[in-house]
Amino acid sequence: MAGISLQHIFKTYAGNPPVTAVHDFCLEIDDKEFIILVGPSGCGKSTTLRMIAGLEEITDGELYIGDKLVNDVAPKDRDIAMVFQNYALYPHMTVYKNMAFGLQLRKTPKDIIDQKVKEAAKILDIEHLLERRPRALSGGQRQRVALGRAMVRDPAVFLLDEPLSNLDAKLRASMRAEITKLHKRLGTTFVYVTHDQTEAMTMGDRIVVMKDGFIQQVDTPQNLYDTPCNVFVAGFIGTPQMNFFPATIRKKEDGHFVAAFGDSLFPVLPDRVEAKVIAAYEGKEVLLGIRPEALREEPIYMDQPTTGVIEAEVELAELMGAETYLYLVSQGQNIIARVPSRSSAKAGDTIKMAVDCTKLHIFDKETEQVITG
Ligand code: ADP
Repeated sequence: MAGISLQHIFKTYAGNPPVTAVHDFCLEIDDKEFIILVGPSGCGKSTTLRMIAGLEEITDGELYIGDKLVNDVAPKDRDIAMVFQNYALYPHMTVYKNMAFGLQLRKTPKDIIDQKVKEAAKILDIEHLLERRPRALSGGQRQRVALGRAMVRDPAVFLLDEPLSNLDAKLRASMRAEITKLHKRLGTTFVYVTHDQTEAMTMGDRIVVMKDGFIQQVDTPQNLYDTPCNVFVAGFIGTPQMNFFPATIRKKEDGHFVAAFGDSLFPVLPDRVEAKVIAAYEGKEVLLGIRPEALREEPIYMDQPTTGVIEAEVELAELMGAETYLYLVSQGQNIIARVPSRSSAKAGDTIKMAVDCTKLHIFDKETEQVITG
């Protein structure tokens, strides 16, 4: 059992020019926590994970596993186990041998190996596959074997690098749930790398969103969704994506502020942003962010003091089953709304949509940092 402390970690790959893949990465991972590193390809997730594993040298900063400084500790002495994207199973060995191999190398007694392999196989529901070779397994079964091989070592920390990316969508969804359950059952620290925001949102206790080697935000899935710190995080987390469009901050005669998007006025509610903060933006352009579910069609929402109303043309109504995605155009901006499937809106209609401004995000146009809080 162990937490992990990453203190001002940098990684620069030598070369011409050198590439700094990770900049000043600071994070305290609690014992037993399930933490996810997420971000687009090339943002430095794998490099960070590989530094924790000891497979990549740390250029600067300090890495602790438990209370031990491990910068210069060999991977095999770090009490971690890593599960890779490509499983890395030995093709000529049976499932049993694949799972037992690491323990054999460590000279673990045979009866203990046998007990651990069988226990892991039972938890993963692969007991009936122990005598098979990897090529006779499905992708999901291979992934379980890879997990089992990590489990038998009872590591203090599991490191998982895109473990589900080779599986088809349906299997991915079920393995997602299985890994979450496994984490609960094992009560071990998990660090999990993915580029998939759905995996991040559904699995992690906390998510670290990265971009270009920098941490953007660290928080629980719900907090990231509700209070993204900048345009990047707001756009990366959530499907369909948050809508963004420009608006100008104006002060009304009654002293309240609104964000004006063409003719539409969105109230800037005092509990979303302090008056003195928004006052500094008076007359300036900002970026508004509105999640698709904060747009509503029903007349009851139109006249509320906390809503703004836009008129939009429906380009496409996509029935998803329980809900419908409306692809709208309003004043030249594309906007997606997520409405109940009883909606009768169809392509070509011009409709009014109420925007719930208790859920309005306002971003500084230059810095792309959030103003609302
Ligand atoms: P991610 O896992 O988020 O896709 P990586 O950590 O693999 O990103 O890569 C981060 C950056 O470091 C990328 O720009 C990548 O090209 C670079 N990089 C990764 N490995 C090496 C290496 N061995 N040598 C040089 N540059 C590398």
